[in-house]
Amino acid sequence: MARNAKTARKAPRKRRRLKGAELKAQALRVLTDLEQLYPDARCELDFDTPLQLLIATILSAQCTDKRVNMVTPELFRTFPDASSLAAADSDRLEELIKSTGFFRNKTKSLLGMSAAVAERHGGEIPRTMGELVKLPGVGRKTANVVLGNAFQINEGIVVDTHVGRLSVRLGLTDETDPVKVEQALMPLFPHEMWTLISHLLIFHGRRVCIARAPRCGECVLSDVCPSARV
Ligand code: SF4
Repeated sequence: MARNAKTARKAPRKRRRLKGAELKAQALRVLTDLEQLYPDARCELDFDTPLQLLIATILSAQCTDKRVNMVTPELFRTFPDASSLAAADSDRLEELIKSTGFFRNKTKSLLGMSAAVAERHGGEIPRTMGELVKLPGVGRKTANVVLGNAFQINEGIVVDTHVGRLSVRLGLTDETDPVKVEQALMPLFPHEMWTLISHLLIFHGRRVCIARAPRCGECVLSDVCPSARV
């Protein structure tokens, strides 16, 4: 059915690939505007220790942070350290984390990760990318979350679904593979801002640049965004 003038959505501006100084300027504008808009941007998973953050991040796959935060208080009370989690009964653990989805795989990851942390690292979460990604259930994204938020180590940029989507919409990259998006973003932002830029993009992606219906009309970046529909 042909759309009439009232129902037709405005087409985005014709996209032009940004390069060099223009691309850097775009990244700087994104960083400064979002920093101003979200001065409290932070990791939205609740945790007190690096182990708790690692557990919460594993649980957050395909699940909202809000849901994870509902599950973790009892989980952390029941299993206060890596050894107790490694010794957990898998049925009991599955029951506790069931509502986060994919609970069988997540149970396997938690048991494997905590056993490795207890056996290889004396119960302490390692502080390097190389050691973290050797833990069962831990990939580069999860390791970046832990390094950046539990240890304040800017090793890389967390690329989740929001960061990936906004990076493309804002013209920062054409890549869609998370590892390639991360490689494209790292040279665009100051090293010390790598953890923060991820939080800022996630905050904006959850509140304004929503996947299905971006609110371009109320977006502070609409004048520089090549995907703006305003
Ligand atoms: S909300 Fe619209 S203008 Fe803002 S970043 Fe997303 S696509 Fe661009």
